[in-house]
Amino acid sequence: MAVIVLNSCIGCEACIAQCPHDALSLNAEGKISVDGKKCDECRECIKSCPVSAISLPEKENIAKSKKQDLQTEVPKTNANANIAAVEEKKAASPESCAKPVQKDHNGGVLVFAEQLEGKIAGVALELVGAAKKLAEKLGVQVCAVLLGDGVEAIIPVLFEHGADKVYVFDNPLYHFYRTESYTKACCYLANKYKPEIFLVGATTSGRDLAGALATTMRTGLTADCTGLDIDMDKRLLLASRPAFGGNIMATIVCENHLPQMATVRPRVMPTPEPVSGRKGELIREEVEIEEDELRTSVLKIVKEQSDNIKLEDAKIIVSGGRGVQNEQGFALLGELARAVGGVLAGSRGAVEKGLVEHKRQVGQTGQTVAPKLYFAVGISGAIQHIVGMQGSETIVAINTDPQCPMMKLATYGIQGDAFEVLPVLIEEFKRELAHKEVVAVG
Ligand SMILES: Cc1cc2nc3c(=O)[nH]c(=O)nc-3n(C[C@H](O)[C@H](O)[C@H](O)COP(=O)(O)OP(=O)(O)OC[C@H]3O[C@@H](n4cnc5c(N)ncnc54)[C@H](O)[C@@H]3O)c2cc1C
Repeated sequence: MAVIVLNSCIGCEACIAQCPHDALSLNAEGKISVDGKKCDECRECIKSCPVSAISLPEKENIAKSKKQDLQTEVPKTNANANIAAVEEKKAASPESCAKPVQKDHNGGVLVFAEQLEGKIAGVALELVGAAKKLAEKLGVQVCAVLLGDGVEAIIPVLFEHGADKVYVFDNPLYHFYRTESYTKACCYLANKYKPEIFLVGATTSGRDLAGALATTMRTGLTADCTGLDIDMDKRLLLASRPAFGGNIMATIVCENHLPQMATVRPRVMPTPEPVSGRKGELIREEVEIEEDELRTSVLKIVKEQSDNIKLEDAKIIVSGGRGVQNEQGFALLGELARAVGGVLAGSRGAVEKGLVEHKRQVGQTGQTVAPKLYFAVGISGAIQHIVGMQGSETIVAINTDPQCPMMKLATYGIQGDAFEVLPVLIEEFKRELAHKEVVAVG
């Protein structure tokens, strides 16, 4: 007998170091394999697994009832944060609505229409656009769930951007985002209308909500996706995102649980063109929640005061990498930014050199931006950087290496030393824009 590794294994390798018998290894699927001849079920790996993906065979109920969840029987990569398999162990909650059956889930593609103080979040419209593409392939409707207090004005905007149905919970209870009230309302809705797919923006609130929904509904959630598509044969959501530190793009599926959930960062998907006057079906919903049963209350919202344009809102970004080398180099970048009315940013390479603050880092572990113009100076174009700026309309790369990925991605590539190219560009821009008022715009 040997321990069993479930499909919820995330391949973190924490168990390998703990195994005194050298019985564990990482296989080609990025999961742990057990050498049955060496394993003596000492349990050290079970204790070390952060996602409870290893168990003893006789204690594993899932193994008996859901053999398809065993990694050995599903060689296909299914690295979703398979909360489902782990959560399977927990008692079903009354709000739980996910069932491993696809047939009765005919509620289309549902989007969480995040809003703040009556203003729709840009990512919500981007997701409606993404949902439309998925829904067309599936032959279903695009639905949006809108929660708030006095949010009527947003409803036509959702229809105009492509929603066929909008479910509205309009109540002072939803004035501010709170995990409990929003989770309860969304779970109620998902239970009632049974969407196949549920998309949420990867904003601060959206990330919180999506995690709470996925655990409550006992389904899988793929976070921070950069691409969404449909496997037409299996009618599955294909959710793509950088994985293993951004070294590979993983396409993740949630085969056994519904709804299939994904979060997508703002500005990764394009905003669809609105169709003026487009109409849809409005459905008002209510769910019984009392204020005193909620454990949190919002006392006040304190807005960060800043005179600077936020990086993610900037129309022009001048971004520097390790190739800009030093403070003199970044001073030149600053000058270019001022000349064109841009905002300064950097790669992680530059952040690590202390040349730019972390809050100005673009990429997977920084900001996602989609300006009209992005200068990438001395940035090689690692995938972790690209995922944060690939939505830029025009990319100008300055690099000594014409073969680097950023030069290949760029709309315009200038091969050369940044210290020689930048002064010329600054001079030219200053001359061209001499009679214009140049200010950074967001
Ligand atoms: C989990 C994880 C998350 C990450 N998240 C991020 C992230 O959010 N954002 C991010 O940016 N990176 C991220 N990274 C790091 C990423 O993998 C790269 O290491 C990083 O982007 C490299 O930064 P760079 O392009 O500035 O430096 P380098 O890769 O070193 O590239 C420097 C470039 O400058 C060019 N160059 C050199 N001298 C000159 C010159 N004089 N003039 C012009 N060009 C010159 C070189 O040809 C080269 O192309 C992450 C990595 C991991 C593992």
